[in-house]
Amino acid sequence: MNYMNREIILDKIESEKGLWDVVVIGGGATGLGAALESVTRKYKTLLLEKSDFSKGTSSRSTKLIHGGVRYLQQGNISLVFEALQERGILKQNAPHLVHNQAFIVPIYDWWDGPFYGMGLKVYDLLAGKLGIGKSKILSKAETIEKIENVETKDLRGGVIYYDGQFDDSRLAINIAQTINENNGVAINYMEVNSLMKTSNMISGVIAIDKETNKEYKIHSRVVINATGIFTNNIIKLDQIDADDLVTLSQGIHIVLEKKFLKGNSAIMVPHTEDGRVLFAVPWYDKVIVGTTDTKVNEPLLEPKPYKEEIEYILQHAQKYMSSAPELCDIKSIFAGIRPLIKPRENKNTSSISRDHSINVSKSGLVTITGGKWTTYRKMGEDVINQAALIAGLEERSSITKSFRIKKKKKRFR
Ligand SMILES: Cc1cc2nc3c(=O)[nH]c(=O)nc-3n(C[C@H](O)[C@H](O)[C@H](O)COP(=O)(O)OP(=O)(O)OC[C@H]3O[C@@H](n4cnc5c(N)ncnc54)[C@H](O)[C@@H]3O)c2cc1C
Repeated sequence: MNYMNREIILDKIESEKGLWDVVVIGGGATGLGAALESVTRKYKTLLLEKSDFSKGTSSRSTKLIHGGVRYLQQGNISLVFEALQERGILKQNAPHLVHNQAFIVPIYDWWDGPFYGMGLKVYDLLAGKLGIGKSKILSKAETIEKIENVETKDLRGGVIYYDGQFDDSRLAINIAQTINENNGVAINYMEVNSLMKTSNMISGVIAIDKETNKEYKIHSRVVINATGIFTNNIIKLDQIDADDLVTLSQGIHIVLEKKFLKGNSAIMVPHTEDGRVLFAVPWYDKVIVGTTDTKVNEPLLEPKPYKEEIEYILQHAQKYMSSAPELCDIKSIFAGIRPLIKPRENKNTSSISRDHSINVSKSGLVTITGGKWTTYRKMGEDVINQAALIAGLEERSSITKSFRIKKKKKRFR
């Protein structure tokens, strides 16, 4: 049976006149994680995505399953610990999509060697049993051997460490398939444009099939808002004057020919002069370089890179690559917007925590914000714990720590 056949899925929604246990709005990492958690606890689950699965931020990441060396620098040990555990779990659950990637921090100032060497030892320790390789200080010769065209002027050596690399869109598709194969329903091109209420409490959603314009009234015990950068729009359907829950920060990547980063190792620059992180990572037969952190005001499904962002990346890439890439070397650019938890005070977006947060409105709308791809499973577990309480669902334990996301042969139609 083709579990992703649209007609079969629509029939299932049509014939399901009764109540869903859980309806999830949004088919990015967060919504897919929530729906997977829900079906594996055997709750009747429906996920609605208005575009393609992972069309939003979830297909525009740096494609790393990582603890986040930068968050270690910021002192957010609990986030790094959680993400490193999730890195190990995901590697076990989706081995066909997550593999080990070596990263090298090139060292140009003598004090950076011991500093990053120590920091990355802490990173190894936090990963514990789920570690994927030990970090090590490299000599100048070893660094050049691993990254043939690293900038050698003033180079003193490097530090090598390991993280995970994955294919974000493929993982999203495999999770959607896994949801549908486990008695859940995940459907795309279905846009939620209003919330239904009974006695002032959320009792479902109204969604439009974007292929036929047909409207569906869908009843549910609980509704989860997992719409990333569109979160504020959905909470305003619930309560028109609700305070915003997310703030938006754009990040772009440029794609270059592989000749700009020879060998299999990636370059990681933990601290550019304005405090950002820069990655140059082999990606299939190309190399991706990013990213930026630019505050934006409007949530867009197809965001555009700013000229200054492209210049910023080129300028920094040129410092670490011996043959410096120019504008004309860029093969393509992709931009994504981070749905960050809105902090109380006005902060620089790069310093806002990448933790996740769950908010329940007075009428029972459950909204999950923040987080990252790496922690999508834990986010799902946490939001379903909360949603099950709101919906009064039977308490069931999570099994997703050891639930395999299988490689699927069948193609989408
Ligand atoms: C530049 C960049 C690099 C990153 N790199 C990494 C990385 O290397 N590793 C990592 O772990 N994390 C990374 N992240 C973070 C990670 O990508 C995000 O945290 C994650 O993808 C957010 O997923 P989401 O599901 O919350 O949002 P989205 O993926 O945007 O999903 C929200 C979905 O909701 C849908 N939607 C909105 N409104 C409606 C509606 N009314 N009805 C139906 N559907 C609706 C949208 O179409 C969208 O598909 C990166 C982020 C950025 C921007």
